[in-house]
Amino acid sequence: MKQKLVFWDWTATLADESKLDEDVCRGMEENVAKRDGIPFKEAEKRFKEHLRNLENTWQWHDYVLHGRAFGVDWKHCQQMHLKELVLLPRAKEILEYVRGRGYKNVLATNAVRAVILLRVGYAGLLDLFDIIITSDDVQSLKSEGKHFEYGLRVLDGDPSSSYSIGDNPVQDILSAKRFGLMTIKCDFGQLTHYHSYHISGNHKELANADYSISDLSEIRRIIK
Ligand SMILES: [Mg+2]
Repeated sequence: MKQKLVFWDWTATLADESKLDEDVCRGMEENVAKRDGIPFKEAEKRFKEHLRNLENTWQWHDYVLHGRAFGVDWKHCQQMHLKELVLLPRAKEILEYVRGRGYKNVLATNAVRAVILLRVGYAGLLDLFDIIITSDDVQSLKSEGKHFEYGLRVLDGDPSSSYSIGDNPVQDILSAKRFGLMTIKCDFGQLTHYHSYHISGNHKELANADYSISDLSEIRRIIK
């Protein structure tokens, strides 16, 4: 029998990482400044330039790559600030609820595997996901749809009884609709585009999701 799946976005859907990402980036810049004996502003400029060159690619999300590019211990920078990760209200409860309704929980994220495992592990939610699909797994952003294609294939999912839930019209809604998934748009959550606010424009695109919610608990009224 085909499986019912729920593809969950992470950032600004289940978690608020705005402070975490800002402080991780600043921490990496401080490391660069200290090691190279340059002013913080100069290190910040170099980091921003590096990110700018990666805009609109999945590597923009790849802290492992950023660490390698600057010779900085990416993992230490993450671990130092994990306590700033904030789960959105009722995130754990709603993941448990959805699983209880017979759905498989799929975490589909533009983050890379090494980083999302640290964060989801810190949040204590690893056991609640049947599979985690990251941008480095499928070598693309969610907007390309490969996360959905991969999840549907390996879990033998039935698109017409599966959902994509997320805050971003382009990454989470339009891309999922192309595969025939039902879509739930989250109208809450903090963007985490530190250094790259100008690329958050696709948040404003019209997505015509099947449902829009202002709180995770509203999912109970949709997925029964
Ligand atoms: Mg998101």
